[in-house]
Amino acid sequence: MLERAALLLALRQEDRYRVRAYKRAAWTVASLPEKVEDLARENRLEALPGIGPSLAAKTKEIVETGRLSLLEKLESAALPEKTSGMIMSAPALAFARELLPVVESFDGVYSARITGALRRGQAMVPCLEFVLACDISRAREAIKSYKHFHRQRWQGYCCHATHTLGVELTFHLAEKRDFIQTLWLTTGSREHVNRVAAMAKSNRGTELLRLGLDKEIVAEEDIYALAGLPFIEPEIRENRGEITAAFRGELPRLIEACDYRGDLHIHTDWSDGTAGIEQMAGAAAELGYEYLAITDHSRSLKIAGGLSLERLAAQIQVIKDLQKACSIRIFTGIEVDILPDGRLDAPDEVLAGLDVVVASVHSAFRQSKEQMTARICRAMQNPYVQIIGHPTGRLLNKRKAYEVDMEELLKVAAATGTILEINATPDRLDIDDNTARKAKAAGILLAVNTDAHSQTELANAALGLSVARRAWLSREDVINTASSRDVQALLQRKRTGGRR
Ligand SMILES: [Zn+2]
Ligand SMILES: [Zn+2]
Repeated sequence: MLERAALLLALRQEDRYRVRAYKRAAWTVASLPEKVEDLARENRLEALPGIGPSLAAKTKEIVETGRLSLLEKLESAALPEKTSGMIMSAPALAFARELLPVVESFDGVYSARITGALRRGQAMVPCLEFVLACDISRAREAIKSYKHFHRQRWQGYCCHATHTLGVELTFHLAEKRDFIQTLWLTTGSREHVNRVAAMAKSNRGTELLRLGLDKEIVAEEDIYALAGLPFIEPEIRENRGEITAAFRGELPRLIEACDYRGDLHIHTDWSDGTAGIEQMAGAAAELGYEYLAITDHSRSLKIAGGLSLERLAAQIQVIKDLQKACSIRIFTGIEVDILPDGRLDAPDEVLAGLDVVVASVHSAFRQSKEQMTARICRAMQNPYVQIIGHPTGRLLNKRKAYEVDMEELLKVAAATGTILEINATPDRLDIDDNTARKAKAAGILLAVNTDAHSQTELANAALGLSVARRAWLSREDVINTASSRDVQALLQRKRTGGRR
């Protein structure tokens, strides 16, 4: 119920900290070693990491009544007016995955798939789209009579509806034999689909834009083969050069989840995270990672419990001690503030003693474009700064990126050998796919990091990988695919003067 409350709050674009608090609490309660009932009875819930008085009360309510009044309120209330209408991919995906089995259980529906912008991995989507393999007339009746699909607008085999929770939905109904073709037609951007269809027509005389082909299509690969092309992954079907690249055999092999070997930017309860170093490392080991970097905040970031130099030194010692009993490599590190004038919030001697140095802007967001650009570029000139964290500072649906000359930033990153981060926090996804693609073209190495503040947030790596795939990145372009030893060499190359 806490998990679902987190999802509904996210769909309503509620405060990011509130959403995260519910998510963490859900995870904490689900992974308790003892019974939640016992903790509730003995009023020990508040002692759990990440659970304050309010969440403790909510958890107690669930345990005692089997209900959560907040959830009932969220489920019955319409969306607030202030929402932008665009949904972030993380709650959109979670909600779509929740709806899939519901739709698949409808009379006449054989199977269903997510399609559209969500399947392409876009950071923000206007609606959730599904393709249904079905008996059309029976499925249509089932959709029409389902109580949560309101304001239905039908256009042929396509239905737009608004879910009770205010989320816009689109259903594409297809006979079983047209299923894959419909999935393909609704996945790519309009331009991508039209161009591939034109190629198939001139190549084989096949009309891909029309359903009911002589031969049933059983895989999307067959569609591209009709156009004389190799398979093109959903994330890059945007008509941004992928068709020409495919034709020439120059498509990159996109990075995959199994290539990812470790996270290089996370927080623990030493600063504003909710879990200890050991717990975070344990969760990373469970995900099959080879390494994890502990990068808590630096001293100036007081609201996030930034570490004094003494605390940082103590943390390094604790990590050394923990390492002996840990199956994965734990890197020492810091997320050091880039101060308003571009200096760093820790002396070089201290940075030199750390495995991983992420430098980020957390203050003075309103500087002029010139100031902000000079500030970040100055930080990149420091030989100990390996990675620039969330380089534009944007928060989806909340805060625009700060003013910064991205061309200049890319130039200096390339010249200094500084890595740029794709921060996978659901409302950051910073840098975005377009910028990441430019960074690759400029010869810059990228890092996909979650900036996790709790164990459950380590799973956000998948969102960052979607951005990386949309940016045409391969394994070689992302530092987190390197082995524990190679990743250290890549991180150290600025200090040793080596190039990529
Ligand atoms: Zn940060
Ligand atoms: Zn961080």
